[in-house]
Amino acid sequence: MGKRILIVDDSKFWRLVLVDIVKEICGECEIFLASNGNEGIQMALKHRPDYVLTDYNMPDLTGLYLSVTLRELECFKNTGIAIFTASSDVVNEFWAERSGADKFISKMLEKEKMREEIKEFLSLERVTEKMETIHVSNVFQIVENRLKKEILEKEILSFLRYARDEMYVVLLLEDLFKKFAEFKGFRVLLLSPTEGRIYSLGEPVNKERLKGKLLSSLEKPTSPSSWSFQGSFLEEDRAPKDGFVHVVKESMELGCILFEEPFSEFILKSVVSIAQESLVTLFRNLNDFRDYIVASATDSLTGLYNKKAIMEILDRRLKVGENTAVAMIDIDDFKRINDTFGHTKGDVVLRNISTILKECVTNGRVGRYGGEEFMIVFENGKNVIETMDSIMEKVRGHRWEEVLGRPGARVTVSGGVAFSRKGISTIELVELADRKLYEAKKAGKDRYFVFES
Ligand code: GH3
Ligand code: MG
Ligand code: MG
Repeated sequence: MGKRILIVDDSKFWRLVLVDIVKEICGECEIFLASNGNEGIQMALKHRPDYVLTDYNMPDLTGLYLSVTLRELECFKNTGIAIFTASSDVVNEFWAERSGADKFISKMLEKEKMREEIKEFLSLERVTEKMETIHVSNVFQIVENRLKKEILEKEILSFLRYARDEMYVVLLLEDLFKKFAEFKGFRVLLLSPTEGRIYSLGEPVNKERLKGKLLSSLEKPTSPSSWSFQGSFLEEDRAPKDGFVHVVKESMELGCILFEEPFSEFILKSVVSIAQESLVTLFRNLNDFRDYIVASATDSLTGLYNKKAIMEILDRRLKVGENTAVAMIDIDDFKRINDTFGHTKGDVVLRNISTILKECVTNGRVGRYGGEEFMIVFENGKNVIETMDSIMEKVRGHRWEEVLGRPGARVTVSGGVAFSRKGISTIELVELADRKLYEAKKAGKDRYFVFES
C-alpha cells in the first residue's frame, strides 16, 4: 500500500511543487491537500495520513500550531511531521523540534537539495493510528490542554528552588492543589533509599497509621534506612481519613500524595494527571537531593554523622540558645586492638561501638568525630548521666570475645562530658568535654568524667 501523505500550504504554487516532488519520490501514494492550518487539522483527523508536510507561515494556524495540535493526540504520536519555512519566517529548527515535528526544511534550498530532504523525511518509518476514535473535536481545546500542562509544569518545577526546605515545598504543593479543589488533609510521602519523609498537613494523625496508609498505596516501596516526620501528628491512635492517593512513580515509586476527603475527587484527579510528569521530576529531585545531603553528612564506615555534620548540629543548638550537653567518647587502647587483631577487626569494633551508641542515645545525636573518637550532642541537659552510664555498661558487657574471636578479649571506652551554659561557643564546649576525656584516660580509662562548672 502506498504512503498516505498530507500537504498543507496556503500557496497553490508550493502545493504543486510539493506534490510533484512527493510523487517523484514515492510513486504510488495517496496525497491529501489542505490550504490552511485549520483545514490541515480537519484533513488529518479525517484521513489519518502517516506523513504531514506543512508550511509554517499560513493565514490562520501556523505549521507549528498544527504540529503541536496533532502531537497532543494519541493517534498522531508516531506520524511524520515536517515543517517548511521561507527565509523570513521567525521559526527555526528549535521551535520545529519543540512542537513535536520530525524535520524542519527550508524552502530556500535548491530543488535538488529539497528533494533529498523530503526523501529522507519520507523514508522515516512513520505510521498513524487509524482506528482509534478521537473525542476532542475542538482543536482549541487540544492546545489549551497543552498550555495548561505547561503552566502547571512551570509552577511545580519552580518549587525545586526550595529543595533544601522540603516542608515548604509541600506547603506550596498543598496551596497549588487547593486552588483546584478543597480537601481536608494533605499528606505527602517522599521515599528515597536513605530516608522516607512523611509530611502531614491538616488534622493531626497518628504517625504509624499515616505511614501505614501511605505505604500501602505503593506496590513495591523501597525500605529506606531511616524515617522522618514533619507536620501535625499525635500520639493517640487516630488514622487519616479516606480520600484519594496519587502515586508519583517513574521506573520506581518516588512517593505519594494523600488528599483527604477531597471536595471534588474528579477535578483533583485530572489536575494531578496533567501534572504527573512534573511531579515525577519534583519528587525525583527532592529524593536525589536528600540522598546527597544524607551521604555528605554521613560517615561511611559507621553510618553515624560525620564530624562536619555533628559539629553543625551542635552549632545550631548553641546558636538558638538551647540547653545541651556534649560528650566525647574515645575507644581505649584502640591502637593495640588494631595491632593485635588487625585493621579489619578494628573496623568491626568501630561499628559495634557505633551500634551501641545509636541504641543508647535516644536523647541526642551521635557523630564520628575522628578515627576512634565519637561525639554526642544531647537534645537538652536531661538524662545525660543515665545515657552515659548505659553506654559504659553496654560496652563493658558487649560480646567482645565473640566479636574478636578470642577468650578474654575486652574493649572499653573513656568519656568526657560538658554541659552548655549561656554564651559558650562550640569550640569551648567541645574543649571542656575533651579535657574531661583526657582526665579519664589519665585516671586509668574505662570511665567518664563530667565538667562541673
Ligand atoms: P587511648 O586509649 O589513649 O585512646 O589509645 P589509642 O590507642 O586508642 O589511641 P591512639 O590515638 O594512639 O590510636 C588510635 C588508633 O586508631 C590509631 C589509628 O590507626 C586507629 N584508627 C583510626 N581510624 C581507624 C579506622 O577507621 N579503622 C581502624 N581499624 N583503625 C583506625
Ligand atoms: Mg583511643
Ligand atoms: Mg584517639
